[in-house]
Amino acid sequence: MAEVKISCPKCDWEPTPADVWQCTCGHVWHTFDTAGRCPSCSKQWEETCCHEPAAGGCGRWSPHMEWYRNLDGWLKEEIEKIRIRVAETIG
Ligand SMILES: [Zn+2]
Ligand SMILES: [Zn+2]
Repeated sequence: MAEVKISCPKCDWEPTPADVWQCTCGHVWHTFDTAGRCPSCSKQWEETCCHEPAAGGCGRWSPHMEWYRNLDGWLKEEIEKIRIRVAETIG
C-alpha cells in the first residue's frame, strides 16, 4: 500500500507535526489532524494555506484534499470519517 505523503500541491513543502495553522477565530492547531476543520469553532477549511516563503513554503492556498498525495479511495473515506467524527465531537 502506498504511503500517504502530505505536501503542498504547488511547491511540495511538507508540513511536520510541529507546524500549525491559525483559524480566523484565533485558534492554532495542526490542520491535517482534523482534515481541515478548526477544533475550536468548527469552521471547515476547504482550502489550506501553505506556509510563508520565509518558513520554506510558497504562501499560496490549495484545496485541502490536494495536499494528500498517493490518496486511495479508502483513505478519502477515512478522512471523511475523521471530518464527521470531529464535527460530532465539537458539535
Ligand atoms: Zn476556528
Ligand atoms: Zn506551497
